[in-house]
Amino acid sequence: MYINGVWQSCENNFDVFNPATGEKIGEVADGGVQQARAAIDAADAAFGEWSRRTAYDRAEILYKAWELMMARQSELSELMTCEQGKPLKAARNEVKYAADFLRWFAEEAKRVYGQTIPSARPDQRFIALKQAVGVVAAITPWNYPISMLTRKLAPALAAGCTVVLKPAESTPLCAIAVFKLLEEAGVPVGVANLVTASQPAPIGREFCENSLIRKLTFTGSTAVGKLLARDAAPQLKRISMELGGHAPFIVCEDADPVHAAKGAALVKFLNAGQACISPNRIYVHESIAERFLETLTERVAGLRAGNGMDPSNSIGPLVAEPALDKVARQVEDAVAKGAHLHTGGSRILENGLEKGYFYAPTVLSGVTDTMQIYREETFGPVAPVVIYNDQDDILALANDTNYGLAAYVYTQNISRAMRLFEGLQFGIIGVNDINPTSAAAPFGGMKMSGMGREGAQEGIEEYLETKLGGFSV
Ligand code: ADP
Repeated sequence: MYINGVWQSCENNFDVFNPATGEKIGEVADGGVQQARAAIDAADAAFGEWSRRTAYDRAEILYKAWELMMARQSELSELMTCEQGKPLKAARNEVKYAADFLRWFAEEAKRVYGQTIPSARPDQRFIALKQAVGVVAAITPWNYPISMLTRKLAPALAAGCTVVLKPAESTPLCAIAVFKLLEEAGVPVGVANLVTASQPAPIGREFCENSLIRKLTFTGSTAVGKLLARDAAPQLKRISMELGGHAPFIVCEDADPVHAAKGAALVKFLNAGQACISPNRIYVHESIAERFLETLTERVAGLRAGNGMDPSNSIGPLVAEPALDKVARQVEDAVAKGAHLHTGGSRILENGLEKGYFYAPTVLSGVTDTMQIYREETFGPVAPVVIYNDQDDILALANDTNYGLAAYVYTQNISRAMRLFEGLQFGIIGVNDINPTSAAAPFGGMKMSGMGREGAQEGIEEYLETKLGGFSV
């Protein structure tokens, strides 16, 4: 743990495993409420000085952190592949994406503009000032174990906040590497603190109940997000929630089915499907469904699962045994209710992969709304295809979910693209585009996918208060 500028151990440790091999790869300090409190106190003590520094000073440190992260892209990616499992190439992309947040918010730090507002009274002047919200608590997930940290840390630090971060219990080594880098970049003592823990709940409660925390930012499941939002409510803490998703991927009748299928194969199997923006219902118009399924199945059957350190593997393991069970349950349920299995459909138990958590890349068609996979987030390598026809209201079908994070549309008709873009109740829409994400673009969801935005100009607003001054002159 890194508390008040000191690397600390504690009485107990917990083990970290490689999900591709089941091997133990490290041991980290198992922190609890006591350590969380110490970290919050340190962040509180550091807040005054850090928030009063010039934005230029804070930006310099973030630029330095960006440089260090890019210089260490290879070693950080290797660590990520060992700890989280994604293929090395994807890990490299993630490190670059993570570093982008450091650079973007180094730039945004200098653009925290307030406003002067004309008054109706001749003797009055209004000034709206933006100020750092205070001490921030951050809880991050395991699926993107470096970029989800910088997406919170960079804007918080840029705004002048101090932070206590608790990473996911399966990927603390990546978090430690990020904090080593922040320390080296010159982040002052107490400004960024790291508490690793095997038991997240008591620390989450402390973040909600400790009155020194003014803002809670969370990325993870909707179930835990709701719990934290509830616990943060008595003190009316500001919260940002980046939660689950159930993305529709709509392939209209005028789309090129081959191009769309290649896109679906790429985005669905990123991170073995363990992404909140992963497509979970692929709607294909019946007139092009056959061609689409042919290409999708061919592409997916060609994906090689295995240890991400080997560059010929493009699908890594799932995070743990329960994730495999959930995927298997959803596939079995769909097949039992009449879905057609084109490829995959089982855990991989050969060539040494039985030691890890590998599930074969899977394509299902004939998926209907009676199946679990149609409603529940899968977080695994399964592409469920739903065939629709002219009688279906595709917009209503796509919006028929409690989630509202990402959606994708393939069409060559500009009016249809615009209608769907405007009508879809999701925070991020890819139109003929499978990667609508960037440090410069606002990321976040509607409905049960959360509240608040990360990245972009909006990302720093999450860490700022607006203070109005009315001056009589
Ligand atoms: P997933 O199901 O994808 O693992 P979680 O929401 O369980 O997602 O985990 C995301 C983050 O939330 C992790 O850092 C995890 O430790 C943390 N977490 C899980 N349960 C709680 C809880 N009750 N209170 C606070 N944090 C939690």
